[in-house]
Formats: sequence, C-alpha cells, structure tokens
Amino acid sequence: MRINTDYEKLESFSRNHVKFYLKYSSFVFRALTKPSFQKFLHWMLKKEKIEEHAVRAVHVKVLPLRRKNGKGIAGKCDTARGRIQIYPKTLKFCQVFKQKFGRNSLLFYAGNRARAALIHELLHLKYSADEKTVRILAENYFFIFTQKHPAQSSKALSICKMIFNAKVSGKPAPLSGSTESRARLGLN
Ligand SMILES: [Zn+2]
Repeated sequence: MRINTDYEKLESFSRNHVKFYLKYSSFVFRALTKPSFQKFLHWMLKKEKIEEHAVRAVHVKVLPLRRKNGKGIAGKCDTARGRIQIYPKTLKFCQVFKQKFGRNSLLFYAGNRARAALIHELLHLKYSADEKTVRILAENYFFIFTQKHPAQSSKALSICKMIFNAKVSGKPAPLSGSTESRARLGLN
C-alpha cells in the first residue's frame, strides 16, 4: 500500500503551527506504515475481498480540514480513484487533550485515530456510500486490531471509546454512543 505525506502550503502558518503539524504528520505516517498495522490491513482487505491495487494512494495530509459546520474530518475517500486522505486534529484540540490526559495519551490517540480513519476509508472502497455498514465494520475491525496487539490493550478500550463514541471536552459519552457523537470526531 502506497502511503505518502502530502505537504501543503504552510507559509501562511506560524512557525509553531508548522512545527506541530509536520511532527503530527510524520507521527501518523509511522503509525500507518508500521508493519504490524500493515499486516492487519492486508488481512482485512483479503477478508473483505477488496483488491489491494484498488487502493491507489493514501495521503497523510499535514493540515486539518473542517466541514462547513466546523466539525473536523478524519479521512476522505475518493472511491472512483481509490485515493484516501487522512487528516490531523487541530493544534488547539491537541493542546487541550494533552493538558487533560498527558502527552502519551495524545500520541496514542492521534496514531489510533489515523488508523481507525484508514480502516474506515478503505471499507468505503467496497461499501461506497453505505455509511452505516462502514461504521459498524470499521469499529469491529479496529477493535480486532487492538485485541491482536496486547501492547495497546491497556489503553485501547478507553481510546476506542474516545475515537468511536466520545467527545474529548465535556462529559463522557456512553459506550454505545450514537452516530451523531461519532460524527463529532469526524470519522466519516
Ligand atoms: Zn464514512
């Protein structure tokens, strides 16, 4: 699977922002290209009968993207071209997160959010506009991945909750969170 970082025009950003987003994207790149995760994706694609060459390119975007309603986007998939884009959280979000949960949790969250987003977008290659099916399957597959890698499992459940259900600021959402709360984290 070809994964590369998509460097955008960063001139209009402050040095702090540029430094932060470059670091974030290189961290996400490493999380996505890690052999254990790649092995998992091969297995998932095979199980779903998604041809590996249907995935033309995966771009790790350096800058975040927001919808018109202000919600952040985790990933996008151009199903016709087989191109997937993975977006970061904003600097502001990460600062708040780090203050609340610490640096290690932030790294754990950022890496796994990108993994969950890639799983989700890959499934769109098969189920195209069937968002409901994609969401259910993506959540299941992500859970399988965390189970297969016990090094992750101590924090995995709480991070799973964050990625799929909860909102970082404000009160925690229930485990069986609605699609609405999931959408808040931009996993569409
Ligand atoms: Zn989706």
